[in-house]
Amino acid sequence: MNILVTGGAGYIGSHAVSLLIERGYNVVVVDNLSTGHIEAVNEKAKFYQGDIGDYEFMTRVLKTEDIGGVIHFAAFSLVGESMTNPFKYYENNVGKTNVLLKAMTDSGVKNIVFSSTAATYGEPENVPILETDKTFPTNVYGETKLSMEKMIKWYRGAFGLNFVCLRYFNVAGAHQTENIGEAHNPETHLIPIILQVASGRREFISVFGNDYDTKDGTCIRDYIHVIDLGDAHIRALEYLVSDGESTVFNLGSGEGFTVIEMIDAARRVTGHPIPMKVEERRTGDPAKLVASSEKARTILKWVPKYEDINIMIADAWNWEQNKRY
Ligand code: UDP
Repeated sequence: MNILVTGGAGYIGSHAVSLLIERGYNVVVVDNLSTGHIEAVNEKAKFYQGDIGDYEFMTRVLKTEDIGGVIHFAAFSLVGESMTNPFKYYENNVGKTNVLLKAMTDSGVKNIVFSSTAATYGEPENVPILETDKTFPTNVYGETKLSMEKMIKWYRGAFGLNFVCLRYFNVAGAHQTENIGEAHNPETHLIPIILQVASGRREFISVFGNDYDTKDGTCIRDYIHVIDLGDAHIRALEYLVSDGESTVFNLGSGEGFTVIEMIDAARRVTGHPIPMKVEERRTGDPAKLVASSEKARTILKWVPKYEDINIMIADAWNWEQNKRY
């Protein structure tokens, strides 16, 4: 089956593309390269530079390439930026997904796996978070992803589009044999920044708040290896193709680590001291985010292989030292 991956030049998308190719799929990538890297796209994938918001272009790709399913990653994903520039996020994430869905349904493409986020939940009511918990995003990014989920559900009603929405939080690690990994500009995520300190590219890591109600006062997050995440997307697609019911799954380890635990782990893995400075809390950061992924484990038979944060950090560290984009 031919699979279209939107945003296949991004961090998570490029890993999903490589995994799909390893499993024998024909992969087509559409990416406008606004934040992605052409070097990240597996050379066995067919690459189209273009915009998912361009209806004519998308219809042409979907028809010419005889696409059987879409994995949709293309989106802006910086929480801070979304708060100061909501227009950019609604226009790009919501507006262009609407065009993608129209192009898909007009071209008879029935299956979509959507890269959503646990930011759709907002401040959690319960930890670990369940798929049935209320969704009340606390930032524009999460709000746009929730709108995209809802839009996909309405397209299901109107056109019979089958969907799986995957909600996940903190993605880490890198491919272990191909030289691809995380490369955001500007970088805002914890692990890459910690590793930039280890490699001497930054002086220290700022810890945003140590007065939260957690064991060491710093925020707790649920980390998932990018390869396990790619595997979940492929399983979700295979589930849809074999007539699985359209639904939402959380993806996570079910276990949380504090910011200081992550810094300590990185010190052990890299052998570097990694100085830190405690600073003010960052706006919008909940104290503890941990997702229950029992549903994905049961229905998709998803068994993450790299749940150990030391492996995630070691793979990210290998990438940090060998980065080529
Ligand atoms: N964090 C931090 N210093 C940084 C970047 C992040 O202390 O330079 C903290 C952040 O406040 C949060 C956690 O690390 O509690 C994970 O943040 P990240 O931006 O990686 O992911 P998020 O949880 O926001 O999706």
